Amino acid sequence: MRLILLGPPGAGKGTQARRLVDCYGIVQLSTGDLLRESAAAGTPAGRKAHEIMARGDLVPDDMVVAIVAERIDRPDCAKGFILDGFPRTVGQAEALDRLLREKGVSLDAVIEFKVDESILVQRVENRVKEMAGRGETLRADDNPEALRHRLAAYRGQTAPLVDYYARKGLLLSVDGMLSIDQVTAEIESLLAPRKRVQADAGAGKPAQS
Ligand code: AMP
Repeated sequence: MRLILLGPPGAGKGTQARRLVDCYGIVQLSTGDLLRESAAAGTPAGRKAHEIMARGDLVPDDMVVAIVAERIDRPDCAKGFILDGFPRTVGQAEALDRLLREKGVSLDAVIEFKVDESILVQRVENRVKEMAGRGETLRADDNPEALRHRLAAYRGQTAPLVDYYARKGLLLSVDGMLSIDQVTAEIESLLAPRKRVQADAGAGKPAQS
């Protein structure tokens, strides 16, 4: 299974990705996490990314695409992966199409999380409190100013991907305002037919509708 989770910051992509990892036995690739790792490593590229991320802007496409290209080539991605936070621009989506074509594989679905912007700020504030409560290092971009930029980046640069993937027949939408368990259930029921098709194909059986 190769999936993309699409939605604004605070929509619940990371939480649902971790659940899908358990359910399908595939890896979660969060470009935000990968960029934070490279920032923590302190390489020149990582330091540049850190500055951009702290403002809440998007890092350049070529940098993120290079990270994803290297990551999906690793053996643990052979069974599939969940892209969480990538692609975020049409340019990245086109680059991903090229990468997958070169590998001779394709996406199974793109799951869009539909969420009212008004609750996202509250959700991010809750995340900050929870992380602080666990004694974890807070993200440099979980503050009101950076969040405004992140939401603007989503609206301006990422939201057009909804149409991009709808035109390809890959888009599945879930109501991201529901409880965590309800969203998981919605995703699982949307993906069930695709999972069955894959299982049938693996067993050499014709797919059933
Ligand atoms: P996230 O952890 O997905 O919320 O991402 C945190 C930050 O990392 C974003 O606000 C961007 O600055 C950067 N980032 C993550 N993924 C991408 C991407 N696909 N393209 C550009 N910037 C990204």
